[in-house]
Amino acid sequence: MAQIRTLLDLCRRRGFLYQSAEIYGGLRGAYDYGPLGVEMKKNILNSWWQRNVYSRDDVVGIDTSILTPHPVLKASGHVDEFTDLLVDCTLTKERFRPDKAPQVTLDKNGHLPITAPDKETAQQWKKSIGEQFAPNVLVTVEGKRLLLHVDHVVEPVKGHAGKIVFKMNNEQAAFELNYHGYVEPNTNSPFLTDSRPFNLMFKTFLDPIDPIDRVIQTTMNQAGESKPTVREEVDKVLKPSTVYLRPETAQGVFVNFEQVVRTMKTKPPFGIAQVGKSFRNEIRLEHGIFRTPEFEQLELEYFVAPWEAKHFYKYWREQRYRWWLEHATHPENFRQRDHESDEMAHYATGCTDVEYLYPWGWGEVEGVAHRGNYDLTQHIKNTGANFEIVDEKPCISPDVEGEIDLIPKETPARYIPHVVESSCGLNRAMLAYLCDAFHQVEEGKGKPVRNVLKLHPRLAPIKCAVMPLTGKEEFIPLTKKVAKSLRRMGWYTVVESQKLKIGKRYYRHDEIGTPWCVTVDYQSLEDETVTIRDRDTGHQERVHWKQVQTFIGDKLME
Ligand code: ATP
Repeated sequence: MAQIRTLLDLCRRRGFLYQSAEIYGGLRGAYDYGPLGVEMKKNILNSWWQRNVYSRDDVVGIDTSILTPHPVLKASGHVDEFTDLLVDCTLTKERFRPDKAPQVTLDKNGHLPITAPDKETAQQWKKSIGEQFAPNVLVTVEGKRLLLHVDHVVEPVKGHAGKIVFKMNNEQAAFELNYHGYVEPNTNSPFLTDSRPFNLMFKTFLDPIDPIDRVIQTTMNQAGESKPTVREEVDKVLKPSTVYLRPETAQGVFVNFEQVVRTMKTKPPFGIAQVGKSFRNEIRLEHGIFRTPEFEQLELEYFVAPWEAKHFYKYWREQRYRWWLEHATHPENFRQRDHESDEMAHYATGCTDVEYLYPWGWGEVEGVAHRGNYDLTQHIKNTGANFEIVDEKPCISPDVEGEIDLIPKETPARYIPHVVESSCGLNRAMLAYLCDAFHQVEEGKGKPVRNVLKLHPRLAPIKCAVMPLTGKEEFIPLTKKVAKSLRRMGWYTVVESQKLKIGKRYYRHDEIGTPWCVTVDYQSLEDETVTIRDRDTGHQERVHWKQVQTFIGDKLME
């Protein structure tokens, strides 16, 4: 865990990741990507798109709306089923007995403070995690982490410290505040309600007039006539304008299925790829960008004939895992985990997670699922859309294991396609590859350790740093010429001409994962050669400046 703190500190210091709205104290779970973070994210996305779309002739892209109407997510099951369990704390002011229970003192802003074993650790936590906590806290009850609304018991007066006090059966409860702001009770609280489902979707309204004003107006107009209850009115008026921030990008693909087939003149097996933001009102926000309310997904929905679904599920399971390993420095820290049957959605017949061994344990980075034809069928039921494929020459792959009975006896074959989905979290991918690449080098006795990010060159934010050996003006024209030739290739290239010793400049680039540093020195002035330094070996090669482009191009293709 010490390493992750150092890594998060590096990310903040060097412009990968910032706490969102930091100057206002930050917003829990919200992160902004700095100049290097945005490049790295784009590089992961590009590698994914290159592999899944450009290098194939059976996948096309799409970009659908984030705002999703109620009927779509009702049909997909998200309105009723996309939930986690939530427990409310019903502690009231009357039960507020500061004399009887251990206390957690809030700071003057009403936030839970950080308690750490010693000053130094506290400072490290503050730096890497930030001090901001939401007014809700998480408690662990019977091994499950649950959200506690503490609003009811917190009475901080502006400028004064407030207190949250939890009391259990007149016994003192031992609460321990850890650095995530979790409160861990050692026993069950009598003030916790039964758990209830909590929908993870963010809801909003697409209506120029505030829907609540509309309800009040309608209720007032009708008062004395039919006297409708406010609840009925609220439902009636709100429903048509209710929209959700999509919880996954996939539904946008399914509702456009027929349009893509028609406009692209395609038929199964083929895929639709989509990259974009998704939103989930997660109860637990944890481990920096691992679990956040706003995140990006790289999703591929691959549509196949029913008798080919198992074959393609196996195929995509392998393909996707291979992609993850290709960019890994430590492939042993990635694994595939097949879901148990009780873990899967009821309509899925297979699901495999790709997991990475984060410093806190294994965590999902991607799910590959055989979703059957559930989604398309649901949208057909609700809209009457025509998603049926009528195929004169149906594809039959050589190993349609166990599904021979599904192959139609006659043509044209008629079927609703099945879907194999791969859904990768872009932010989690970035965190996994940062953890995977991070290591510290000991330069020798008495010298401080230094950080190196051994990122795969394709993922590295900056591909090349071009630098004059010293601040002498004579080096500048060739330095600029080399940088220009690399920028022309679309590679993020920077010119490093600060007055730092060349070794220091190399180390600064090692820390952010730049794979190559090109140096213009005295010999360059005579014969137009430059040196290229390799981040991982420290080895330097001398080439003519015009060859740098090919050198880097070849390496990036490896
Ligand atoms: P988890 O079990 O970790 O909550 P999930 O099974 O709900 O994940 P999926 O619905 O399969 O996740 O979403 C596909 C991918 O989207 C996940 O593998 C993950 O990489 C990413 N993802 C899901 N939820 C979040 C989130 N709140 N923050 C960041 N990434 C997420």
